[in-house]
Amino acid sequence: MLASIIALGTAAGYASASTSQPSVEAAQQEQAPAAESTTSDVGNILTVAVAWKQTAAEYKALYHQAFNIARMQVDLALANQKPGDKPLAIITDLDDTVLLPVNYWGYLINNNMDFFDDAIWDKWIPQYKMVASPGALDFLNYCKEKGVEVYYVSNRDQGPRTYKYALTQLKRLKFPYADETHLTVNRDTSNKEPRQNEIAQTYNVISYLGDNLNDFRRVYYVKDVDERTKLMEQDKDLYGSKFILLPNPTDGHWVRAIFGESEPAATDENRAIWKKAATRSAWKQK
Ligand SMILES: [Mg+2]
Repeated sequence: MLASIIALGTAAGYASASTSQPSVEAAQQEQAPAAESTTSDVGNILTVAVAWKQTAAEYKALYHQAFNIARMQVDLALANQKPGDKPLAIITDLDDTVLLPVNYWGYLINNNMDFFDDAIWDKWIPQYKMVASPGALDFLNYCKEKGVEVYYVSNRDQGPRTYKYALTQLKRLKFPYADETHLTVNRDTSNKEPRQNEIAQTYNVISYLGDNLNDFRRVYYVKDVDERTKLMEQDKDLYGSKFILLPNPTDGHWVRAIFGESEPAATDENRAIWKKAATRSAWKQK
């Protein structure tokens, strides 16, 4: 049953891509040669999420919505700033927040892969195929215009050249504050808090932007789905002000909460775990 539901979703995704998709960034359109259609192709559990990332105006609108909210927070902070206060800053994540790797996910689907693949990711990053997320450049340039500094804090590991790859990508897309002072890349930990706390000693951090709760507070880094949700609910008043969340239906620590690890292997056992997660609540027709 699951396979047939996904097949329907897949067909809808492709139909929308061929008939109503407006122009998208050239990098997103670039695709590997189409793989031959197979059963695994039709049943690819990633397809619907990636089709949404590739085509949905709603996906793009969520970025605009987030950056519009962030801009309101910046304006509010500027209006409330008094002489002698710390200078203002924004702290943002990179991937799936201000940079979109949709083209990478398209490659996986074209090659009948249904799980994040770290080796391919590490080959893809130095190709500089990321695109700026909708509204990111406008928002971050607005910050710069208003004297609000932007700090980028990311977790990536593509070996010794990791930092160069991240900085070059930001520079190529003409992001403001793309320099060694404002970019931090953690290679050996996903814990952003030490660097965030360091920045907060000097600056009044208006908002944190990210697609992963871990981009806001380390306390969310727990493996239990319910515990993670409970912690988020305790901070619910901070969402839309201190924490600005972007959408990501393909990867992140929400996957870790299901599998116990962020990048589960492409095995049938793990496909069954996806199904179990998807049927966590399910109507039982009598
Ligand atoms: Mg991210």
